[in-house]
Order: sequence, then C-alpha cells, then structure tokens
Amino acid sequence: MTEPLEGRPLRVALTFDAEHPDRPHAPGVPEGILGVLGDRHVPATWFLQGRWVEAFPELARQVVADGHLVGNHSFYHARLPLLTDDGLRTDIRESERVIGETTGIDPRPWFRCPFGDGARDPRVLAGLGAAGYRHVGWHVDPEDWRDEGSAEKLERRVREGIEREGDGSVVLLHGWPSATPLAVERLLASASEDGVSYVRIDQLGVAPVDTVPW
Ligand SMILES: [Zn+2]
Repeated sequence: MTEPLEGRPLRVALTFDAEHPDRPHAPGVPEGILGVLGDRHVPATWFLQGRWVEAFPELARQVVADGHLVGNHSFYHARLPLLTDDGLRTDIRESERVIGETTGIDPRPWFRCPFGDGARDPRVLAGLGAAGYRHVGWHVDPEDWRDEGSAEKLERRVREGIEREGDGSVVLLHGWPSATPLAVERLLASASEDGVSYVRIDQLGVAPVDTVPW
C-alpha cells in the first residue's frame, strides 16, 4: 500500500454497477455484496440500471436504506453513442423515473455510461450534462466478471490497482459476478491494516472524480 496521506487513510470508492448481465450468473450475489458492506457499515456507490430496478425493486430499496449512494446506469444498458439525442434523453429519463418511483432517490448528478462507452464522446457528454448528470468513470478495473469464482485473484487485482492509484481511487465492480462478495469481504476485513477507508463517490471530493480517466 502507498503511504497514507498526512497520516490519514487512503480514500477508496468501491462502485457497483447493478445491471442485467449478458451472461448466465448465480442468484443472490447482490444480496451477498450488500450483506458484506452492511456487516462492516461500509458505504459504497451503486449505479442502477433502470430495467434492473424494475426487476429487483426490493434490492434497489435496500441499496438506499443501507446508506449507499445511488447513480443512474441507464435504462437499457445500451452503448450510448449508438443512440440518437432523443433516444439518449429518453433512456436517461426513463431510468431516472424508475429509480425515483422505486427508491424515492434522485440519482442526479451521478451517472455511469454502460461499458464506459460514451465517456469520451462530446455528444453523449453534452446529453448527460443537459440532463443534469456527469459520467463517473473508474481508475481500477479488476474485471470481476473474469475468473468467475476466484475471489483471491479478484481481491489481488483490486489491491494492485489501489496500490497503483493511491488516494481517491475509484474501483469498478459489478453486482452479479459470483466472486465479488467474497473478494469485497476480504478487502474490507483488512481495510484498517491496509490504511484504506472505503467511502462513497461523493465523499472523495469533486476533483478526483473529474480526473477519473474512464
Ligand atoms: Zn454496466
């Protein structure tokens, strides 16, 4: 681990994209992640896909009840540069409506482009801005959908990323890969030993989020 800043722990934001994955996946994973975070009272950031919220309204409400920050992850999880301006606006608003009606939360200004696609597209960014959003990227992508079932490998990739990026690291994880709950549990178990404090995106301060490369 990098030396803590001025004796303070490194601030790291774990972010979870909750979505309908393209591939088969085990049930119960988001419940497992929420359980692990809740046991240790660790706040995180969840980017909710509108269709996922429609399918799992109770889970969406639990995300909010547990004190996590909620962002918008689009409605259809399409590659946003492929949408027209109208299509983009409709997709963003539809997801915002479902999140609001289900959880009572306005996800603005937090948005994550599906696949990170559009994060460097001026037209997509303008559309997001007009709707009151900013894309939140990530520094550390441990590809938690790889090596399904290997929590140790996943944990190691997250650690290496945090070590590389240091204070203000944003980590990309997903709400469905089966290794994610155990990997997160192991990371949280050694947080104080590692000198890491896990926080929400809005607790990182504005600057680190604006400089997130993806
Ligand atoms: Zn996604």
